[in-house]
Amino acid sequence: MTHVEAQSAGAYPLAGKRVWVAGHRGMVGSAIVRRLVAENCEVLTAGRKELDLTRQQDVEAWVEKNRPQAAFVAAAKVGGILANDTYPATFLYDNLIIEANIIKAAHDFDVEKVLFLGSSCIYPKLAPQPISEDALLTGPLEPTNEWYAIAKIAGIKLCQAYRRQYGRDFISAMPTNLYGPGDNFDLNSSHVMPALIRKAHEAKEQGLSEITVWGTGTPRREFLHVEDCADACVHLMKVYSGEGHVNVGFGSDITILDLTRLVCDIVGFKGKIVHDLSKPDGTPRKLMSSERLAELGWRPSISLERGIADTYKAFLATLS
Ligand code: GDP
Repeated sequence: MTHVEAQSAGAYPLAGKRVWVAGHRGMVGSAIVRRLVAENCEVLTAGRKELDLTRQQDVEAWVEKNRPQAAFVAAAKVGGILANDTYPATFLYDNLIIEANIIKAAHDFDVEKVLFLGSSCIYPKLAPQPISEDALLTGPLEPTNEWYAIAKIAGIKLCQAYRRQYGRDFISAMPTNLYGPGDNFDLNSSHVMPALIRKAHEAKEQGLSEITVWGTGTPRREFLHVEDCADACVHLMKVYSGEGHVNVGFGSDITILDLTRLVCDIVGFKGKIVHDLSKPDGTPRKLMSSERLAELGWRPSISLERGIADTYKAFLATLS
């Protein structure tokens, strides 16, 4: 499908619309809010004190009162490999209940369009690479993050179910590993990118001779800057209408060891890299096929080098 055909198939301009960003304080949600400025729409958000997304009646009451026309579901309990493994109940229950509450309320109060955000960990651990959307539910998941993955798969299915049963225009996007300003830089719960930025920075500041990387360093990961992800989500909201979820990727991956070298270079740490083999590697490779998104007329524009430099700057700003 060409870009023009895609637009006419599902054209949904956002200008003048009331657009709810659920999870607007998170890394992705806040990037979507920033990106929506260019769309001339009215952005609706609800603070945690105003609305607890795990409470069904509260979500219904908020949606009934505020009447969004479109909603980005970027609210989720997220964390890196260790956090997922340590808090399985939280990752499964909170994510199930949050997405179920929002999607059901969107149906009850006639929200015209919903974009649900998942993650590349929905795919089987040993899915053929690059992973196409069709790989979903073709094999066992990576056990370290299956709790989160199961919840996100349920979210995709919920959007599909409301499409089929009620003709709702609910769609899903599956971003690859994201990084950027607003990321969680806590070493126990973060993903690898912010962890490496913090470790390299602290090692440089303290004059240490080495930094420790979890696992063997051989796993490969794909990284997309969150501003690119937000841009892709807004694009999909405007042009895409279909039952299938759409991957949102960068298009190439890198080993954790090479990523560590790149981060050290950008941060300016010149010491050694050592491995903590007591920590898990997780899935060996997780590169998504972004062909469907490219056919829909979108490509990333932020290089890994520029994105890391930008994220390092954002990290430094959190310290002052
Ligand atoms: P994943 O993509 O779901 O596996 O989540 P992560 O971003 O947490 O981890 C990606 C890879 O980076 C795994 O192989 C980790 O073992 C590795 N890694 C290396 N050092 C670190 C670190 O300091 N923190 C985290 N979270 N992962 C690290």
